Amino acid sequence: RGRLAGKSVIITGAASGIGLGTAELFMEEGAKLVLVDLQPEMLEQAVTRLHDASGECVSVCGDVSEPYTITRAVQRAIETYGKIDVVFNNAGIMPTGPVTEYPDESWDRVMAVNLKSMFMMCKMVIPEMLKQGGGSIVNMSSVMAGLTEPGYTAYTASKAGIIGLTKEIAVSYSEQGIRCNAICPGWVDTEMNRKVAEDMGGMDKLQPLIKRQQPLGRMATVREVGYAVLFLASDESTAVSGSCLYVDGASSAS
Ligand code: NAD
Repeated sequence: RGRLAGKSVIITGAASGIGLGTAELFMEEGAKLVLVDLQPEMLEQAVTRLHDASGECVSVCGDVSEPYTITRAVQRAIETYGKIDVVFNNAGIMPTGPVTEYPDESWDRVMAVNLKSMFMMCKMVIPEMLKQGGGSIVNMSSVMAGLTEPGYTAYTASKAGIIGLTKEIAVSYSEQGIRCNAICPGWVDTEMNRKVAEDMGGMDKLQPLIKRQQPLGRMATVREVGYAVLFLASDESTAVSGSCLYVDGASSAS
């Protein structure tokens, strides 16, 4: 029962933040999950949490920028559930710095984790989805793909690239039943932003910036982002492909 009843779903970056929040929501909606993350302990805790709530869930620990991790995730889904209906490419990192001082290694790392991993995952799952007659891919972009600030050098470039990749897959495979959409959150209450607040000297210092940039006046919760991903993953959105769904409390409208 549920909006994803019986669907086999791979989620990357699933051990915390938006990935974990979405995994919990998907489980409640009847999905069977493969959780992928780099951090073994947090991943184990996430799996335990889902098992305790009677969820069907297996995990693959690895770096999504390594082709081997992607291969294992796809194999795990096929071995365990016999198919892959949905992929949520969510893992991402955000090292900042001005262009002139930005290390080449950081640029390459951000591009590999945020963008190339999604290309590799799509390349591996599309043949499986074609065999089954369709599927839904949701790629995590950001409102920062289009509305950036100084210092978000590789992050903004990678998130804009994700929108390009998403549209390319949508036009190439929609006729065969494979949909591909991007999700563009604004400020979301996650570990990533708790670190941003810490660097600024506390949440009190970050709050005025959030109020200024996000007319909603607060960060979105991971659950609020999860519901948008759920819509794109489910059969409620079968005519939606190549879209960017903004979950940004009107940031991009202001
Ligand atoms: P988070 O740091 O809480 O979670 C990210 C997860 O990804 C972590 O569990 C981490 O271990 C995992 N991860 C990182 N690098 C990995 C790698 N190479 N291989 C496998 N796993 C890896 O962050 P979050 O805020 O939940 O962000 C999730 C996604 O949402 C990111 O792509 C981020 O850019 C995007 N996003 C976040 C916000 C926000 O405000 N938090 C806004 C827009 C977009």
